[in-house]
Amino acid sequence: MSKDKYLVLENYIGGKFVPCSKLMDSFNPSTGEVYCKVPDSGPEEVDAAVRAAKEAFPDWSAKSPAERSKVLNKLADLIEARLEEFVQAESKDQGKTITFARNVDIPRSAYNFRFFASSVLHHTNDCSQMDHMGCLNYTVRCPVGVAGLISPWNLPLYLLTWKIAPAVAAGNTVVAKPSEMTSVTAWMMCQLLEEAGFPPGVINVVFGTGPRAGDALVSHPDVPLISFTGSTATARLITERSAPYCKKLSLELGGKNPAIIFADADMEECISTTVRSSFSNQGEICLCSSRIFVERSIYPEFLARFVEAARRWKTGVPSDPSNDNGALISKEHLQKVKGYVALALEEGAQVHCGEGVDKLILPQQNAGGYFMLPTIISGVKDSSALMQEEIFGPVTCVTPFDEEEEVISRANGVRYGLSATVWSRDVGRVHRVARKLQAGLVWTNCWLVRDLNLPFGGMKNSGIGREGGKDSYHFFTEVKSITIKH
Ligand code: NAD
Repeated sequence: MSKDKYLVLENYIGGKFVPCSKLMDSFNPSTGEVYCKVPDSGPEEVDAAVRAAKEAFPDWSAKSPAERSKVLNKLADLIEARLEEFVQAESKDQGKTITFARNVDIPRSAYNFRFFASSVLHHTNDCSQMDHMGCLNYTVRCPVGVAGLISPWNLPLYLLTWKIAPAVAAGNTVVAKPSEMTSVTAWMMCQLLEEAGFPPGVINVVFGTGPRAGDALVSHPDVPLISFTGSTATARLITERSAPYCKKLSLELGGKNPAIIFADADMEECISTTVRSSFSNQGEICLCSSRIFVERSIYPEFLARFVEAARRWKTGVPSDPSNDNGALISKEHLQKVKGYVALALEEGAQVHCGEGVDKLILPQQNAGGYFMLPTIISGVKDSSALMQEEIFGPVTCVTPFDEEEEVISRANGVRYGLSATVWSRDVGRVHRVARKLQAGLVWTNCWLVRDLNLPFGGMKNSGIGREGGKDSYHFFTEVKSITIKH
């Protein structure tokens, strides 16, 4: 492919597209071929973006919530009007199916702007009674300044807009850095910002790797807060690098999410949802279930039906709307995920379907793509890396349990605490177990039902802080208590 056949992205700084002198390859995961060149930005580009954001801050933060809301709503309209273009681009760039991008990623990206455009209009602050020691006390919330936003590759535009929307709704200006592996839809969004009515410098997007562009943002003295979604390992580096500046941090990290299935669960509903919760988006969702605990009396039946349903979960070319799964993000990631299956075999576990058991037939042009079938493993010890580490691919482990207290303790026996799913028709048990699970989100008899007003985030190594609804406003503003003696 000649160079002019590549899609070449540019940074978006101060309302203008700015070419970068250094470019890097971006791959189409379903073919394994380079199709796009992405800026390999460093401290210089990040500094230019921070300066533009700083300059835009006084005017943008002085606008009324209603004025900002109008601009956010317009951007949502523009994304929706080009929904199909965004869907095709997200699927090609990330490897996910067009069906997933069409039903989940892009509608939710537009909705993120719509949600915060609406909720920013309805915030109230606290106010004390007039006679509190002869004083009136009240609070105001002020935007913080330039927000640094760093997002991962699994839900590219969805997770980036989940940060941009509340940050700018609250009156901050932003410098966003998407994952270097999935930059295209963020770049497409930049093409709409002027028409939406965003003044130059309110939203800046700098493309590049974590160690160069990401680190420059985290360690920039004029960026007082960082909202990061990504791995726990990167979060550690970010915490260290931002510590000298005492930055405000929101960290949304990895998970090792349990699904707990009691014998009285609605089996039909539970199996179809557990297939989705294990394998959706190739298992590349931080909320995917990767440890399935099943009450012993229904274990054999559950396992047989779960394997049968996983075999019906179709993997193939992302552009075919009948496929449930597409390709994994990269060759390295595919090797890493497959490595866990190899380890399971070494440890004497049993692989019931998928990797090494079933055959995946692909068209010739996709032979170099990063595909893998949904894989179910049993006979794995709780102490195994398969039950302790985040695999982030289409691999899940199934194991029996006997007692409620036992399963709670085993489910909590990992360093992560992002989400959990509980299946039972016993309402008392559902409440009891949900309260005892160490997870920021617990779904019962469902999975990934999201009300954006609810706090979203994890405990333990799954993160610090919560985003969503008023939690996002709390993060993206500073509260001030004002006392007036009368
Ligand atoms: P990652 O940590 O490798 O990268 C995430 C982002 O951080 C990317 O933009 C990357 O370029 C940047 N980055 C990397 N090193 C950096 C550094 N030293 N300084 C600053 N930025 C740096 O994660 P990933 O592989 O892109 O994403 C997968 C991970 O994200 C999984 O662990 C998954 O669970 C997690 N995730 C969590 C949530 C959540 O809401 N909790 C949602 C989606 C994904």
